[in-house]
Amino acid sequence: MRSCGIAVIGLGLMGSSALYALTRRGADVLGFDPLAVGDARGSSHGSCRIYRRFNFESEAYTELSDRAFKGWQALEKASGRTILKPSRVLEAGPPGSRLVAASRAAAARKGAIGGPATGTDANAAFPAFNLPANWDVVVQGSGGILMAEAAIGAFREGAEGRIVAAAAKMRPTPGGIRITTPDQEVMAEQVIVAAGPWISAFIPGLGRYLTVTRQAVGWFAPAKPETVGYGEFPIFIIEGQGGVIYGFPDFEGRGVKAAQHDHGPIVGADKWSPPARDDELETVRATLARFVPGAAGPVVDRDICLYTNTVKADVRADDGNEFIIDRLPGDRRILVASPCSGHGAKFASAIGAMLSDMALDPEIDAPEAFRLDRFSGFADQR
Ligand SMILES: Cc1cc2nc3c(=O)[nH]c(=O)nc-3n(C[C@H](O)[C@H](O)[C@H](O)COP(=O)(O)OP(=O)(O)OC[C@H]3O[C@@H](n4cnc5c(N)ncnc54)[C@H](O)[C@@H]3O)c2cc1C
Repeated sequence: MRSCGIAVIGLGLMGSSALYALTRRGADVLGFDPLAVGDARGSSHGSCRIYRRFNFESEAYTELSDRAFKGWQALEKASGRTILKPSRVLEAGPPGSRLVAASRAAAARKGAIGGPATGTDANAAFPAFNLPANWDVVVQGSGGILMAEAAIGAFREGAEGRIVAAAAKMRPTPGGIRITTPDQEVMAEQVIVAAGPWISAFIPGLGRYLTVTRQAVGWFAPAKPETVGYGEFPIFIIEGQGGVIYGFPDFEGRGVKAAQHDHGPIVGADKWSPPARDDELETVRATLARFVPGAAGPVVDRDICLYTNTVKADVRADDGNEFIIDRLPGDRRILVASPCSGHGAKFASAIGAMLSDMALDPEIDAPEAFRLDRFSGFADQR
């Protein structure tokens, strides 16, 4: 039977980043995933994700964003690929918007505040918008378009020869973790499980703390193409009546990619049926028509992607949608990585490095906010 020091199950953004970091540190590591880069399943597929330095979810993420930024730069240098395309990020909402206030506070803490602050300012700076004059606005200068598939490709290329293109099963034994694929068995000393929406199948008891939701994504032919080009027009996140809608400049000549951040219907990881329907994209369409008329036009392309969301914790209270990165209480040889809830991609270079640190040094643990013992089902096992 083959053996390895560390096995990584799942090579989406998180697992491929961990595999890459471990490979570069000379670890004896093997990665497993049946899907090729570009496959439309899971959470990481598609060309792009938003990179924000300042995160409305929590100010505590700024440091992780900064670490990830350095990681993306290093990956660009090592791979020769474009991974992070610089872009401003505009966030807007009605007066008193909590989303805008939280991003502003995080930016102000780093002295990075300036630019359009109201709907009037934003409409003047970016003619694609038609925001109400009294809306609150914040523009981050240091955001970017994370080229998600390019990043996974670069991570996987950097770990050439260490990837088994097959689905894996895992069984902990006293002598190691037995990994089984249809063709081989591997005994690993440790395992990083980064299986995205499929992760509950690997970790007993985890499923009750996760929901997998169907997220509809559309590309809209811009009504005024000259107003939404890359460089001229920012990434945008709008907190409107229909919820939180985000979108990208038309950087691929494919239209303005836009979607709703609020959770869609709960589905199984293998039980979803693309493409996105018109009714699922209606709120996005209406929001663009009302607030971003330069981008509003017919839907020209569509996609479905899955969010894996955490529920609110019941031991150390949080707001939910927080990442899980931890050693499994009860079996510290197993590292669990579920950093999604629709906002994990931007951090993947830093999270892969964190997982690699944890696998190589048993003294290193993930930040408390990410640990499993915030949930009662895992609290008494540590
Ligand atoms: C529509 C959408 C928009 C998003 N927008 C943003 C954004 O703008 N900014 C941001 O920061 N984040 C965003 N996110 C979140 C981000 O994309 C996720 O946090 C991230 O992709 C999670 O990656 P992952 O590696 O954990 O999961 P996945 O990418 O799902 O990877 C899991 C992998 O595990 C593999 N696997 C499953 N079972 C097995 C098995 N038995 N054996 C081996 N391998 C297995 C799968 O094949 C898959 O490749 C968005 C997500 C979606 C869906």
